[in-house]
Amino acid sequence: MATAEMGFLHNQLEERKRRLETVIQASPNDAAEALLREVDDALDRFASGTYGLCETCHDSVERDRLLADPLTRYCLDHLTRHQRAALQRDLDLASELQRGLLPPADLKVDGWETSYHYAPLGPVSGDYCDLYPAGGQLFFILGDVSGKGVAASMRMTQLHALFRSLIGMGLPLVEIVEHINRFLCDSGLAGQYATLVCGSAHTGGAVEIFNAGHLPVIVVEQGNVRLLESTAFPLGMFREASFTAARLQLCPGDMLFLFTDGVSEAEGDGGEYGVERVAGLVSRQTPCRAAEVIATCLEDLRGFAGSAPGVDDVTLLAIRHAA
Ligand SMILES: [Zn+2]
Repeated sequence: MATAEMGFLHNQLEERKRRLETVIQASPNDAAEALLREVDDALDRFASGTYGLCETCHDSVERDRLLADPLTRYCLDHLTRHQRAALQRDLDLASELQRGLLPPADLKVDGWETSYHYAPLGPVSGDYCDLYPAGGQLFFILGDVSGKGVAASMRMTQLHALFRSLIGMGLPLVEIVEHINRFLCDSGLAGQYATLVCGSAHTGGAVEIFNAGHLPVIVVEQGNVRLLESTAFPLGMFREASFTAARLQLCPGDMLFLFTDGVSEAEGDGGEYGVERVAGLVSRQTPCRAAEVIATCLEDLRGFAGSAPGVDDVTLLAIRHAA
């Protein structure tokens, strides 16, 4: 752990100690006194140089968990039964919350036909997928929040709320992206960012699209496939970064296909699945409906990965100009 982070954690512990002492002075109670003993123990561990080490295996406690709660004493592998049950309840709740945020399946709106597949590896996911019709446009977002578990999933729900609120205010998409980038820089810890593609599709086929550090978007125009690569940084990395949209004019039958690295980095006997394989598959499926393209891709991915266990969340989104 870096010196600056250790300094931050020490200050956090002292701040908690002061707060607890004030509370206990005003109204003594067992719960506050037990917490004060925990804080004092943590400060003792600081003094003896064992702070941040798991009390069972003596390996380092996960950095993000310690920064989130300076009183963390066990690594994830050595939680007490009570802590494990509490974590499971949090995961279940976060999972339910995430499921509730997903857009309707097979949404059709304003001449666009969509389909997506969202499959977290564990109970919760840092993957993010949303479709939101507003002001005569269809907004679409697909991304991947750094980190894992409850923290990443909460960050994903935060992004969801930010996008929907700012879209609802009628701001131009470029301003929305820049605002969210700054919000993430200001509110998060360094190292917490999101790679993401977002765009808006207009009834006549015009599409504005931003790729912020994410995998390429597969664009199929008149049967020809091309990759729309990222031209910017992930959101939440550089506060003053600027973002430029790509503009497309899609014809009926043309398609956008978005995916997360759980797809392109899936492992099979022949190595990695890869972006090219996704692109080839999608280009051969364009006469099909969005839902059929997603189904074919999933079938191919499953065939490729075989019995190899998945290593990441898998999210796919197809958006087809229907008329
Ligand atoms: Zn441990």
